[in-house]
Amino acid sequence: MSFAAPRIAPFQPPRRILMGPGPSDVPPRVLAAMARPTIGHLDPAFGDMMEQLKALLRYAFQTENRLTFPVSGPGSVGMETCFVNLIEPGDKVIVCINGVFGGRMLENVRRCGGVPVVVEDDWGRAVDVDKVAAAFAAHADARVLAFVHAETSTGARSDAAALAALARAHGALTLMDCVTSLAGTPVLIDAWGIDAAYSGSQKCLSCTPGLSPVTFSEAAIARVRARRVPVQSWFMDLNLVLGYWSGEGRRTYHHTAPINPLYGLHEALLLLAEEGIEQAWARHQSMHDTLRAGLEALGLEFVVPADERLPQLNSVRLPAGVDDAATRARLLDEYGLEIGAGLGALAGRVWRIGLMGASARRENVDACLDALAAVLK
Ligand SMILES: *Cc1c(COP(=O)(O)O)cnc(C)c1O
Repeated sequence: MSFAAPRIAPFQPPRRILMGPGPSDVPPRVLAAMARPTIGHLDPAFGDMMEQLKALLRYAFQTENRLTFPVSGPGSVGMETCFVNLIEPGDKVIVCINGVFGGRMLENVRRCGGVPVVVEDDWGRAVDVDKVAAAFAAHADARVLAFVHAETSTGARSDAAALAALARAHGALTLMDCVTSLAGTPVLIDAWGIDAAYSGSQKCLSCTPGLSPVTFSEAAIARVRARRVPVQSWFMDLNLVLGYWSGEGRRTYHHTAPINPLYGLHEALLLLAEEGIEQAWARHQSMHDTLRAGLEALGLEFVVPADERLPQLNSVRLPAGVDDAATRARLLDEYGLEIGAGLGALAGRVWRIGLMGASARRENVDACLDALAAVLK
């Protein structure tokens, strides 16, 4: 006896305009790349593709770091990869919290057995560099500074260059979340002196979710090699992953890479290289300027002060008397438009309108403003 097979038709996703906090619109070229034939992950042709992918990621991160590769897993796995490798039990870590993702960093530090020193700032504001300086003054033995460059829960951008300089002056490594900033606003790993950074494929890179580009400086690699206790995660242990991603001809089995999604990331990064990263940053800024003017004309107020705003994530306060869930449902059903709800402390109080990657274009901005004007009337 066996269970009867359920009768289900192939899934056809509805047409959507993705203007939330990720995923962003995926260009047809990226989707087409993912539909190419699957080959073995130890096939030399796949190895060549991986080497190109690493070179393209170095361009996106603006780094020469040898250890730059996509972790097989979403941004959260990139986050854990950085924390589990760099933090040993007892390590003091200064963690900056100005939104949801800083809170997740704190949780990672705790789970690694680290001793967190929390620097808190208001949601919607950048990390206060002076508070971090005071934390270093009080905790000279801090080994790592962790912060979120682009806090997606609020749309605030922090001064990564100044924060990294502080960490360097105190002999600490810098661990940065650039999930939402990479390819949308300048992320200069080498110029800023960032030691470990992770991003995500589905935000300003406009690939499908499920891959997390990471990069590690030589100082970060030395810290991992000098660990007293092994990394508690077998899957994320860089010492083991290295043989797979940096084997150059001598690659050995670690896990089976998500082959077709990696074709997609390769294509998404080619699109970025073709456009030019400075042009991509400029496009995000100019689309933000147009969107901002339209949102303000509709009477919507921004959460983040102008000089700390991310162009790719626009948080605006819900107008009085507007039903959050019902309005977003109308946008989705009647206009095929997805925007983001508030997260954590801002749930039910803000909308988050994303202009990430391929979603940062004029047609989307116009469609979004038209739809909002209609539903808010
Ligand atoms: C989206 C996001 C993450 C998590 O990425 P997932 O791919 O959803 O796991 C982490 N940090 C920030 C700032 C993000 O915006």
